[in-house]
Amino acid sequence: MNYTLPLAGRAKDLVGSMIDSSTSLLASQTHDIVRFAMGSPADEAVPAAEFRQIAGEILDNSSFTYGATEGEPRLLQLLVDYLATTPDPSSLDRLVITTGGMQGLDLASKLFVDPGDLVVVESPTYTNGSATALSYGAQLLEVPVDDDGMQVDTLEDLVSRTRRTPKAIYTIPTFQNPSGVTLSEERRRELLRLAHEWGAVIIDDDPYGLLRFSGDDVPTFQTLSPHDPLIFSVRTFSKILAPGWRVGWVDADPSLRQLLINGKQAMDTCTNVPNQHIVAEYIARGGLEDHLAGLRVLYRERRDAMLDSVERHFGDRVSTTHPEGGFFLWLTLRGEFAEIDTRELFETALADGVAFIPGPALSPTGRFRNALRLCFASSTPERIDEGIRRLAGSCERMTQN
Ligand code: PMP
Repeated sequence: MNYTLPLAGRAKDLVGSMIDSSTSLLASQTHDIVRFAMGSPADEAVPAAEFRQIAGEILDNSSFTYGATEGEPRLLQLLVDYLATTPDPSSLDRLVITTGGMQGLDLASKLFVDPGDLVVVESPTYTNGSATALSYGAQLLEVPVDDDGMQVDTLEDLVSRTRRTPKAIYTIPTFQNPSGVTLSEERRRELLRLAHEWGAVIIDDDPYGLLRFSGDDVPTFQTLSPHDPLIFSVRTFSKILAPGWRVGWVDADPSLRQLLINGKQAMDTCTNVPNQHIVAEYIARGGLEDHLAGLRVLYRERRDAMLDSVERHFGDRVSTTHPEGGFFLWLTLRGEFAEIDTRELFETALADGVAFIPGPALSPTGRFRNALRLCFASSTPERIDEGIRRLAGSCERMTQN
């Protein structure tokens, strides 16, 4: 049969994710691969035994029916109690449980982005996140990132050249995905000032903030501007517990709460109920703080191992970021490797047994041809060294051919 499907105009704006497609690509490979591609917690960093025990004990009939759209009351209350111990305390009238951080990002765009609206994003950025804005018809303005995060000093100029006013600013302020860098306090203040000048919402996407293992804390947007209606915070348990649960939350101005609920109702009715109960019970048993402390030790060792291996195997043929937390290192190929296109390197490296995300997959316009993202969180130091050795070997092969 030959016919044209009546696709909506916005279907053309549904961009694919190289980050996600690499998961299925890697799953189908049978040879040994050091996996630096996905931003997944280490298997040994997931409290699997406790989850198994909890799942067996707590799943009563209340788990098998629909739940409240805003989230299970027990989880919401435990979350309020937990957040009171962090830099971003919150309250029940501000929180909605979401199906992962991704749904929080989708809701942000659903509420704030009309087709054609200008949305500021970091460059590089987490392109799954910027894809949510694109899917609502946003026009993205990429603002370069350096060691102190988004270059907010160039933002005003870049925006004025568009002759438009941004509707939203999408930032991953702490241990950014993909670069690992953190937005400085000065720039956070300046970003808040600009957001207020423009009346733009700051989509504050921070899945890694609790995973600082070196350096000093930088105040969160909410600390710098408490109860600010222009701050829309997206959070998730994916990186601190397990991504498979798909449990996250939005922390936003109470005036948005009903809209968030309405928007979520039109998506999935409620977040998976058993998963919310499991996460709630895990928190209730009081292990979260110790668990986070353990993750910080584990990931610090892995970050150090990766920086050390990169130095040994690449020397001055790359420059790297120096993350103080989170999951990722950003490598820029230099010197004799500067001309390598990391999309081509991906194929060679995969055959050589190492996987990463090429730089262009982390920019909506495909910048960063000679850069790449590495996740240090999910491999042991020995495997990290092996993977970096293989990667340097792949670069050498590509420049010899
Ligand atoms: N934002 C950022 C910056 C992320 O790194 C991720 C996960 N890779 C998400 C949002 C999505 O989180 P979740 O898996 O909970 O949907």
